[in-house]
Amino acid sequence: TFHKIDPESLTRGESLAQGSFTHIYKGVKQDQKEDEFYQTEVVLKVMDSSHRNCSESFLEAASIMSQLSHKHLVLLHGVSLGKESIMVQEYVRHGPLDLYLKKNHGESKVTTSWKLQVAKQLAYALNYLEDKRITHGNVSAKKVLLTREGDVASGSPPFIKLNDPGVSVTVLAKDLLVERIPWVAPECLSDPKGLALPADKWGFGATLWEIFSGGNMPVSLLEPQKKLHFYQSRLQLPAPKWTELATLIAQCMDYEPRARPCFRALIRDLNSLITSDYELLSDPSPADV
Ligand code: ATP
Repeated sequence: TFHKIDPESLTRGESLAQGSFTHIYKGVKQDQKEDEFYQTEVVLKVMDSSHRNCSESFLEAASIMSQLSHKHLVLLHGVSLGKESIMVQEYVRHGPLDLYLKKNHGESKVTTSWKLQVAKQLAYALNYLEDKRITHGNVSAKKVLLTREGDVASGSPPFIKLNDPGVSVTVLAKDLLVERIPWVAPECLSDPKGLALPADKWGFGATLWEIFSGGNMPVSLLEPQKKLHFYQSRLQLPAPKWTELATLIAQCMDYEPRARPCFRALIRDLNSLITSDYELLSDPSPADV
């Protein structure tokens, strides 16, 4: 159910990253229309051949993405099925949000209202998925890519796109699930096959926290045992000083999946946050948990 791309039309460029099961390259896709050649900058996600068992899930992610179209979701050009399975996506210039936030922490270009805009755009993408009853299952700032940085002075907002979820949590080994604490929903740890819409609200809550702490997530650096203990003891991330934001995050990161609000309600709440209330306070410190 996705557009097939001829491997011959793809040129592999510099390596961008290595995912758990993939190598990610910048690349070029060449198309021919009559006598004209067109070149498009793309990203090639090459499935690691040593993880054949996860290929199916990888292709399923591609299939889901190819059925969707939203301005805040990464565009999938198609899949190339040669010796390797390759997902061909649009290239997103400014890369993943977690790194961007870390790199630009404290810079004047990343204001509270900038962060709020990013959060709202992510909520719009997830609201679109919720309407279609599709669970993403891997929401975190790493999966949010920045298309446009925006510019405070000229009033141009940032622009983000949510990336594909990659290999589904329903087939991941337990240690990889534990690695994803605190973004992975607690119910997925005990029953990964039960992955459902509420999981994305939990992931969104953790991502909100991450965005407002400048891309830091101290819990993710804990040892696996301590991470597990965090969920087993039903702990919470330290509440940001901005009370209204803290309430929103706490609602998303409710250990009872059914208690988490729908994205329509979350968007309404995000729209009611007034950044000037927050500008008086300092950032939530990435305190010890
Ligand atoms: P994992 O399975 O470990 O979650 P993955 O294989 O799903 O990883 P991503 O997390 O989607 O891979 O991407 C890894 C990195 O590759 C990103 O952090 C980013 O640096 C780069 N990247 C991925 N997709 C794009 C894109 N469309 N445009 C620009 N950079 C990208």
